[in-house]
Amino acid sequence: MTATRVLVLNSGSSSLKYQLLDMADGSKLATGLVERIGEAASRCVHTLLAHGGSTREQSGHIADHAAALKAVAAELDADGLGLDSPELAAIGHRVVHGGLRFTAPTVVDDAVLQEIERLVPVAPLHNPANIIGIRTARELRPDLPQVAVFDTAFHTTMPESAARYAIDVETADAHRIRRYGFHGTSHAYVSRKTAALLGRTPDEVNVIVLHLGNGASASAVAGGVCVDTSMGLTPLEGLVMGTRSGDIDPAVIFHLTRVAGMSVDEIDALLNKKSGLVGLCGDNDMREIVRRMDEGDRRAELAFAIYIHRLKKYIGAYTAVLGRVDAVAFTAGVGENSAPVRAAAVAGLDGLGLAVDAGLNAVRSDKARLISPEGSRVAVAVVPTDEEREIAQQVYALVND
Ligand code: AMP
Repeated sequence: MTATRVLVLNSGSSSLKYQLLDMADGSKLATGLVERIGEAASRCVHTLLAHGGSTREQSGHIADHAAALKAVAAELDADGLGLDSPELAAIGHRVVHGGLRFTAPTVVDDAVLQEIERLVPVAPLHNPANIIGIRTARELRPDLPQVAVFDTAFHTTMPESAARYAIDVETADAHRIRRYGFHGTSHAYVSRKTAALLGRTPDEVNVIVLHLGNGASASAVAGGVCVDTSMGLTPLEGLVMGTRSGDIDPAVIFHLTRVAGMSVDEIDALLNKKSGLVGLCGDNDMREIVRRMDEGDRRAELAFAIYIHRLKKYIGAYTAVLGRVDAVAFTAGVGENSAPVRAAAVAGLDGLGLAVDAGLNAVRSDKARLISPEGSRVAVAVVPTDEEREIAQQVYALVND
């Protein structure tokens, strides 16, 4: 029997998300998540997607990631899709930070794990959880390839002019300070899908990808290769996000220290968790913000205006970086679902060849589609992202190499 299944694991600080795919036909067999790991009331939701689909939910204390993965293994086993199945080809792990060393998916051995650990200082919120996920999966199936797929990998092609901050080179190099970029699997997948939507190959097109979820980032992709992206050393830089500020004058931090007497940890929490849309208007869900705007809520209007202003600046900047743009692609929770955000982001950009057809923009669909008027110089597209599928494809290609 050929092994064609790939289990994709995405370990967060207190959650574990998973999907099981069969790469023989690209189908998704099961998906689920364990959340509030370590708390008294952890929750496990498992959905069998094959055979008509069914969902099971359980709650109870799940002490740590090892216990969470065991719970996932038990759920899969109950559906005849257990981790000991000979059809399982590999386990793919989303790893947030791969630094400069990891430019492609990598089979994990002790040396690779050590290198991922070495990157913890630049990704303190994410890499530790990813490492625990890998260790636990290795213990459960030591014989199976465990493959790390890095959020940063797609961006390692950025030229130095885009990747370096204009700070003292020795200091930057000593502390590995540079722009790495994140959401790489999504930018890779969506830029490729956008090319296919245009009936072209990735090397033929230049695409601006706008990944607008709770976290948000833009990228400039020239002929399939990332040449710039909006997130930097950490996922804090760039666009206005659900709870993160995005770009800010670094002197705001000195000011908050010296004048407001805030500690580094307090400022970190302010900029990562209490800023962005939530800081501006108290809500980070775009549906709620648009609803409040419809009622004439001034704070929601201001939050939306700041969000859109930043987005437009990046579209303009990346048009300049690319020289020629063939398509702008909207993706992730907000990009795929919010017609008002797409319309506002493109409004007034006719000079750049960008426009949205109101009728096409209003259509709700989970398919990749064009929303620009026929004959537009630049295509505007909505392309649902699928990071798990991208990870599974990369893992499967590597283990079958
Ligand atoms: P993600 O991080 O990609 O899962 O995106 C989550 C965000 O997508 C939420 O915080 C919402 O702001 C947004 N979102 C989800 N569904 C919708 C929708 N139907 N309309 C507008 N925004 C949405």
